Amino acid sequence: MTTLNELYQEIILDHYRHPRGRGELEPPKITQEGFNPSCGDEIILDLRVQDGRIQEIRFRGRGCSISQASASMLTEAVQGKTVEQARALIQQVLALVKGETEGDIEALGDIAALAGVRYFPVRVKCATLGWHTLDEALKHAE
Ligand code: ZN
Repeated sequence: MTTLNELYQEIILDHYRHPRGRGELEPPKITQEGFNPSCGDEIILDLRVQDGRIQEIRFRGRGCSISQASASMLTEAVQGKTVEQARALIQQVLALVKGETEGDIEALGDIAALAGVRYFPVRVKCATLGWHTLDEALKHAE
């Protein structure tokens, strides 16, 4: 029988092995780099924001499976969203990973797989790297 944790691990590994939204955008774009020194994870986000909406987003990077899978989920989740919606999602994901939310995590789709990270405090920075990087990038989105 597959436990929920095994299912979550499968989802994370699937995003790691087959990342969505990997690549670069042509200019004009916002580029934001993020680094997690405690694990050596690196994420570079490319975004094109128009009329307050994330038209396109790609990521590059290297590091552990959780950091890269989380970035893959991120690009999938925020593509086409407004800046405001993306900011709200960032807060939801940060709360999820830190174990501060118990609400309807299934509505988050694949991102819900990051919920298990709360039991591994050293991994929290890996899982949140892409989201903090996106938060920084959105500050340049006006
Ligand atoms: Zn990591």
